[in-house]
Amino acid sequence: MTALVTGGAGFIGSHLSETLVARGERVIILDDLSTGSVTNVRHLRTNPLVHCYFESMMERTLLCELVDEADVVYHLAAAVGVRRIIESPVRTIETNVKGTELVLECASKKKKTVFIASTSEVYGKNVHAAFREDDDIVLGPSSRSRWSYATSKLLDEFLALAYWKEKNVPVVIGRLFNTVGPRQTGRYGMVLPTFVRQALEGTPITVYGNGQQTRCFGYVGDVVESIVRLVSCPAAVGHVVNIGSDKEISITALAELIKARAQSASPIQFLSYDEAYAPGFEDMLRRVPCVEKLMSLICFRPTTGLTVIVDEVIEYVRGEKRKATPAHPLNLSVA
Ligand code: UDP
Repeated sequence: MTALVTGGAGFIGSHLSETLVARGERVIILDDLSTGSVTNVRHLRTNPLVHCYFESMMERTLLCELVDEADVVYHLAAAVGVRRIIESPVRTIETNVKGTELVLECASKKKKTVFIASTSEVYGKNVHAAFREDDDIVLGPSSRSRWSYATSKLLDEFLALAYWKEKNVPVVIGRLFNTVGPRQTGRYGMVLPTFVRQALEGTPITVYGNGQQTRCFGYVGDVVESIVRLVSCPAAVGHVVNIGSDKEISITALAELIKARAQSASPIQFLSYDEAYAPGFEDMLRRVPCVEKLMSLICFRPTTGLTVIVDEVIEYVRGEKRKATPAHPLNLSVA
């Protein structure tokens, strides 16, 4: 089996590539390194099963050649991070919409199976618990850039389902809820790695809004396992499936947990959304997946506990910090 992983040097993509290689699959990684990094896949590059192309997936000829080589395409390349999305809305919309359109167009020639990574953002401002895949969607106005991300991902879903219905391209769409674990960077605003870094550096842990908003954090290893199982599940073809943990926690409680596990003296500081993002920013107050469909298809769901995940991320960030600091400080004394 050969898998093409777009966004393969990113946080989730690198874990997915690792899992596929461990199963003996040949993996082609395609990543333009806009948010991914060579470091994420350094350990894989010497493996004869792995081929890396650090190029844009918008290069149609290259993309079509790589899709032709693959049996399955995992399409994970996308604009990520709320901060980045607000700062670069044109790039967000273009990357998400054009990228997915190209992948589906290339895959349709030989009916290759495509996994499309969508997002829980598409549920928008609904606040009821446990979003089901067939729930109505409530988005904010187009004047607020945040919603462009959800809209572009929703269009990806429509497009993928259209390719399935009209052109028989086998597609599986995963709506990924907040996914966390080692290698996730806080650079694009993600809360858990940001809090861990702040706690380890002893700087204030910045909780936005009143901190009562909730999220469910799924461990990247469980999310990757879910994706791989879904792709080999014939009943999942043509379906949208939530992938995530359904254990809910408020952002203030997350800050407290991280502070305690890191044994940090950092104060917890509350910042208004206007200060944190931009005036008029709208957050989702609650986001919980219903994982019944996931369970019924693959008999598996993300369950790794948050304390275990937080400890692992703390270890990872500590390790990164050690690598960034020379083990033996330069001896500057002159003989
Ligand atoms: N958040 C926060 N402090 C930060 C970064 C994020 O309080 O330094 C909040 C953010 O406002 C949101 C939650 O944490 O309510 C999750 O944010 P993230 O960007 O990780 O994911 P998403 O908003 O897409 O769920």
